[in-house]
Amino acid sequence: MVKISNTSKLDARSWSLQAIDTCPGSWAEPGVLVDACRGCYATTGNYNYPNVIAPRLHNREDWQRLEWADDMVAELDSDRYFRWFDSGDAYSVALAEKMLEVMIRTPWCKHWFPTRMHKFPKFRAVFEQMQRLDNVMVRFSADSVDGSYTPGLHGSVIGPDAESFAPIDGAKLCEAYAHNGQCSGCRACWDKSIDLIAYPAHGRKMAKVIRLMAI
Ligand code: SF4
Repeated sequence: MVKISNTSKLDARSWSLQAIDTCPGSWAEPGVLVDACRGCYATTGNYNYPNVIAPRLHNREDWQRLEWADDMVAELDSDRYFRWFDSGDAYSVALAEKMLEVMIRTPWCKHWFPTRMHKFPKFRAVFEQMQRLDNVMVRFSADSVDGSYTPGLHGSVIGPDAESFAPIDGAKLCEAYAHNGQCSGCRACWDKSIDLIAYPAHGRKMAKVIRLMAI
């Protein structure tokens, strides 16, 4: 049985895995997380509760079932916006290929898929097929927390605060910080016409990472 999470911030549902364990793209080198993942919200607070961890562990096994894609397509029958990975990442090409099948078979639903797995060349072909779909926005996440990113590659980046981002053509500043951390009807992350989403850092853990980097 597929287990879907409700993310109140987004007004959209999500399918998730356990953070870090399923995020090979989060390591800069063995034992050292990239800056963006050192402050990961999905390793703190509510994400440590057993009832939040359990469905993520379940999903790691569950996607390998033969019927998983059929079940996901049925589950998304009423969804118009869906986020892949409120926590975790598409750690396996076989999983990414099944996600692609779900995306193709749910044209009524817009899919937003943020990932760091683009670092591994074996994922490129399946990600390119996803991105060619009208209902899918794959965003390659930049690793920095100082607003630096590679134009034409990254689809999202974190910066210390809203003021640190100069206006960039084709970019959208995430304004959830101005709405109690809620998207409040914004759908920019799903919008294929927006090349880059600039996220001001959120959470105490991320603020600490940025403070440490400034020392
Ligand atoms: S850019 Fe818009 S859709 Fe994306 S996280 Fe921010 S408020 Fe939500």
